[in-house]
Amino acid sequence: MAELSLQHIDKIYDNNVQAVFDFNLHVNDGELIVLVGPSGCGKSTTLRMVAGLEDISRGKLLLDGKDITAAPAKDRDMAMVFQNYALYGHMTIYENMAFSLTLRNENPNVIHKKVLAAAEILGLTTQLNKKPAQLSGGQRQRVAMGRSIVRNPKVFLFDEPLSNLDAKLRGATRREILLLHKRLQATMLYVTHDQTEALTLADRIVCMSMGHVQQVGTPLELYDTPNNIFVASFIGLPPMNFFDVVFEDGVLKGKGFEAELTDEQKDILSNYVHKQIVLGVRPEDIAEGGSTPMLVTANENLGMNTLVHGYIGDRDGNRVSAKLRGWANHKSGDKITISFNKMHFFDKETTNAIRKEAQ
Ligand code: ADP
Repeated sequence: MAELSLQHIDKIYDNNVQAVFDFNLHVNDGELIVLVGPSGCGKSTTLRMVAGLEDISRGKLLLDGKDITAAPAKDRDMAMVFQNYALYGHMTIYENMAFSLTLRNENPNVIHKKVLAAAEILGLTTQLNKKPAQLSGGQRQRVAMGRSIVRNPKVFLFDEPLSNLDAKLRGATRREILLLHKRLQATMLYVTHDQTEALTLADRIVCMSMGHVQQVGTPLELYDTPNNIFVASFIGLPPMNFFDVVFEDGVLKGKGFEAELTDEQKDILSNYVHKQIVLGVRPEDIAEGGSTPMLVTANENLGMNTLVHGYIGDRDGNRVSAKLRGWANHKSGDKITISFNKMHFFDKETTNAIRKEAQ
């Protein structure tokens, strides 16, 4: 059992840089939480405060109800897997995995059993006598995970564990981490700047920007109902398109196009008549055919889909990218028409999502 509670946590570094502002999160037992956001947004700082590698400037950290805000790292019963693996080059894989237990003077028979069990889970059984340099990047990352598993910690912490791997290996290792999570049913906190990792791994995602939590929710919640323009643009690839529009005469008027609204959408926007709104449309929610003109500048065939880039109307219009189904053969300069299957609305001033007000 391992529940973590982060309460009103701030981090101010010695140089007076505030890296994290009022971070609040309750992590349930067995949950895999992914902290995601661009470089410098405070993800690693948050993870390192949980690990005990950085002091918590303000706020509280509880593990299973016990206040561990000031507890030293070694007493926190957590294991961290780093981006650079941090393996000992002169030791064998076996010795690397056994190291923390050897330090604790565990019984050699117990150590042996634990290392073999972890090696089995991670498919490293035949690699135990090798040195790290003889292993591939993916295998080394598995050794780093194995070193955590043998300790049987309450909480696993991952700091960008896949960023040193090439794209193919990243996908495979990501699936291994997911299997590991299912198998161990352990509480995990995982930091990445990669929205794909967040969407594919997380039970819940915490999306951060400039030290502030922007949204906490399931991958589908962040994809489908982003809280603000930041989350909408960060989650989803290619990113959401944004257009400045005004709500007038029952339609959305943008530069060179108008979008029809359903009664429900008009209702949602009822407080925004004549006001500036940002319309968000995901590339995959754009279909060919309809009333909106598009000037094509590039056509990228991806197999199942075609990414078509260009402008609404003409080159003076907003840029737009559409992910059309199937194989399209548009040329630069072609004029096509498109329609928006799903629209997101944001307040231009606050950048917050405009939603139906709670009744
Ligand atoms: P992320 O993991 O999201 O890339 P970090 O948590 O590493 O972001 O950094 C958040 C902010 O804190 C950045 O502005 C970074 O420059 C700053 N920062 C990180 N570590 C230190 C440090 N040891 N001293 C001062 N500032 C730091």
